[in-house]
Amino acid sequence: MSQRIDALLHQRLILPSEDTTPSGGRPATAFSFHREARIVLAADLGVTHARIAASDLGGAVLAERAADLRIDRGPVPTLSWVLDTFRELLAECGRPLSDVCGVGVGLPGPVDHASGTAVSPPIMPGWDGFPVPGWLGERLGVPVLVDNDVNIMTLGEHWAVHPEVEHLIFVKVGTGIGCGIIAGRRLHRGARGAAGDIGHIRIPTIDQVQCRCGYVGCLEAVAGGAALAARLRDAGLDVADGRDVVRLTKEGNSLAIRLVRQGGREVGSALASIVNFFNPTLIVIGGDLVEAGDHLLAGVREMVYGRSLPLATQSLGIRASELGDRAGVTGAAVMVIERILDPETVDRSFTT
Ligand SMILES: [Zn+2]
Repeated sequence: MSQRIDALLHQRLILPSEDTTPSGGRPATAFSFHREARIVLAADLGVTHARIAASDLGGAVLAERAADLRIDRGPVPTLSWVLDTFRELLAECGRPLSDVCGVGVGLPGPVDHASGTAVSPPIMPGWDGFPVPGWLGERLGVPVLVDNDVNIMTLGEHWAVHPEVEHLIFVKVGTGIGCGIIAGRRLHRGARGAAGDIGHIRIPTIDQVQCRCGYVGCLEAVAGGAALAARLRDAGLDVADGRDVVRLTKEGNSLAIRLVRQGGREVGSALASIVNFFNPTLIVIGGDLVEAGDHLLAGVREMVYGRSLPLATQSLGIRASELGDRAGVTGAAVMVIERILDPETVDRSFTT
């Protein structure tokens, strides 16, 4: 016990606390968690936009930046921008680089979490196998953890909003579609990090639609933001991406509303099988498209409650993400904080 406390004190992760409660016996020393001891840098890189944040060890965001940034520019230009922005945020917080304890990065494609590299991402030319942790780590001198964007959003939402929930599914409906799984309060990544990739589940009724992954009939090819935008363009509307779909929905465009609701139904019918299989307590829907109001959630609810087994839906909640576009950076920071405060990491720092 005292070795552990020494290790934590040595790293300034805890501080002796003023408020000691008299115990009647030997005077007790109290300690409190020193959340300002270190800075965590987080980057949530999407297909077309990015959010960067600096936070403390309690996950509170101290400074952040959002920007339109295309991931298909390739890894070096993208990560150079991330690096410059990290430095700007540190300057804004008035903290030196030596206070940074780690970096968390989310990428919009399949990621091998152990090595921190993207694996054959369909829309990220140049990123396949690129050593993100090595590249950033060399320049910042701290550990860099990488995961896919949906997993970090799931971690963020669970940690900040639903820490008491044992089994949770987080579904991101953005340009693409994916989901993250919390099982027994821990993120379940699967054998190689591919767990939850529901965007490429095959929907038999839409066999003719080509998906960016190379196959046909994927869920994302019919219900993702890019797919809905393409359908609206076909109808002669000026729409570039999922965010334009949201804008049209908010303006009351009836075709946009109908498409978003139908998209919700397609997502819901895929989720109905997952609910039967996994029996979550809560489904949280996030991503750009959830900004389209209740239309998406209504479609999801209709199919999940209509098609899942009664026992699985008895106490099942379906809600919109509360963190919204901050879920990613929050989760990227949490991923790092959980590693830094892990008992094994603390012990290791003490013995070396
Ligand atoms: Zn696909």
